[in-house]
Amino acid sequence: MTKNQILKKYFGYDTFREGQEEVIDGILSGRDVLGIMPTGAGKSLCYQIPALMMGGITLVISPLISLMKDQVSALNQAGILAAYLNSSLTVNQYYKVLNLAKTGRYPIIYVAPERLLNEEFLDFALHVDISMVAVDEAHCVSQWGQDFRPSYLKIMEFIDKLPRRPVVSAFTATATREVRDDIIDILKLQDPFVTTTGFDRENLFFSVQTPKDKYGYVCEYVTEHREESGIIYCISRKLVEEVCGKLIKEGFSVTRYHAGLSDEERRNNQDDFIYDRCRIMVATNAFGMGIDKSDVRYVIHYNMPKNMESYYQEAGRAGRDGEPSRCILLYSGQDVITNRFFIENNQENQELDPVTRALVQERDEERLRKMTFYCFTHECLRDYILRYFGEYGSNYCENCSNCLTEFVETDVSKEAGEIIQCVKACHQRYGVTVILDTLRGASTAKIRQYQMEENPCYGSCREIPIYRLRQIFHYLLEKGYLSLSNDAYTLVKLTGQSEILLQPDAVLIMKMAREEKKKPKTEKESKKTKTKTSGVLSQEDEPLFQRLRQLRMEIAREEKVPPYIVFSDKTLVHMCIIKPHDKEEMLTVSGVGEHKYTKYGEKFLRKINNTQ
Ligand code: ADP
Repeated sequence: MTKNQILKKYFGYDTFREGQEEVIDGILSGRDVLGIMPTGAGKSLCYQIPALMMGGITLVISPLISLMKDQVSALNQAGILAAYLNSSLTVNQYYKVLNLAKTGRYPIIYVAPERLLNEEFLDFALHVDISMVAVDEAHCVSQWGQDFRPSYLKIMEFIDKLPRRPVVSAFTATATREVRDDIIDILKLQDPFVTTTGFDRENLFFSVQTPKDKYGYVCEYVTEHREESGIIYCISRKLVEEVCGKLIKEGFSVTRYHAGLSDEERRNNQDDFIYDRCRIMVATNAFGMGIDKSDVRYVIHYNMPKNMESYYQEAGRAGRDGEPSRCILLYSGQDVITNRFFIENNQENQELDPVTRALVQERDEERLRKMTFYCFTHECLRDYILRYFGEYGSNYCENCSNCLTEFVETDVSKEAGEIIQCVKACHQRYGVTVILDTLRGASTAKIRQYQMEENPCYGSCREIPIYRLRQIFHYLLEKGYLSLSNDAYTLVKLTGQSEILLQPDAVLIMKMAREEKKKPKTEKESKKTKTKTSGVLSQEDEPLFQRLRQLRMEIAREEKVPPYIVFSDKTLVHMCIIKPHDKEEMLTVSGVGEHKYTKYGEKFLRKINNTQ
């Protein structure tokens, strides 16, 4: 079979997505590859399809048990024999799989990195034909990445022991240069074909909000989107408990996940979310890696995360099926302080030597700064993200809160000059709050203690609302007119550019949001973002979509698999649009391959044609 035939027969898709075909061809020509593709881009097919064409066994190294389970069950559903070997199997199950594997039953085997050098496994690997080692989440080999896993370093040792060097393919969604170079070096990729596909996720709507009452905001949002699956990320376990508890009291279908729960509870809660028994997951960042749930319609960050990499990875868990979905970040100044605290007290860095530790900390501070700028920029948010990852966006995506907000160019020269003057007059000895409180003429304990009433700028910006003053302050940081120190206390410092704004003829223009949003183009009405799960569906088709979802749920229950493994939302939407009458038409639906047709096709046909 050709790669296109496999794509259609097993996965039910007609065309490859950007990057997939090149990677597959690279592998089939015997070359190592590195695929850098964003979450949801379709990395798995890049190694699964060649695995079926190469003969021999493809070992997929994957960091998480849940990920393996999901992938294997999706492959089995598609009619492909695959298995996994990890600590979730009993000894008996493990040997059973291993024995079947020896007979060549599985072309694809998922394995945890810890297991590679294990005696039995190694013995197995040395006696079968391993044609490819595919390393999923390959950034785990890099200490520069956010998810470094020492066990990933065993991969090379393992490959070196094999009688014949297999093709090595590596995949990640992390695009920074250090990580990329690390993957190539550490995995010793030989003359790899490297591809980076666009990081843009067009179906995602990005938004930054600074509500006074974050919980109120969330509550309103989930009320309006009761039928949808969503994740709410909080910065601490305590906050997860608090937000989850309140939502439960209000009667929402919600569960939680954080490192403080027992393994069993975490597993159950995760399953409740994946199997659609609970609509909302409130979690810390411990939740998500390896979660393939494709119909997550929104990801709300209750707090600003520590860097853009984490943000894009977590937010990217929305809309993996390509349907319109929303990523909303709720910012507050406290988030910066909490993240700083985490950076300064990062236990993982304690083992590093002092010089490296200082370097790592500095790098983390810089990442946090860039994350903060994201929350304050008035430019297109998508463009900001893409530029951060080294790509160029369009400046105006029409699908983020900034593009939908009307901004006015405002002359902030006077306020900017006052802020800088204030910092200068107090000899750069204080932090942000003291500076802003001074300008606003506040009378707090600190202001009195530091005698800031005597600062020549005391009260000079009394008329300006605090959030505006903060925006201007952040703009000065972003543009390099001020900086923050990295000492035990974060102090506001002047830079080489500060004096420019103290000149009498200095002008600083900044875009500021008009107080009211443009009415005609709210998020709901934007052409790319519909609030319904079904996105592009007409109102008449909505009931059919719900009936198909119901049928999918019944099948999923019976077969004990997550509903999206039966068919994705996107596939159901496609069915509603095409309304197939027979097998031939059903097979034209995106996501319906032959195997799935045999298992479920008729049931769905009957439902669509109302004969059941
Ligand atoms: P990643 O690992 O890159 O995050 P996945 O491999 O999980 O992404 O794929 C995300 C979704 O996209 C899956 O539902 C998958 O079936 C679907 N997909 C992958 N390739 C294609 C394709 N060529 N056409 C349509 N859908 C695809």
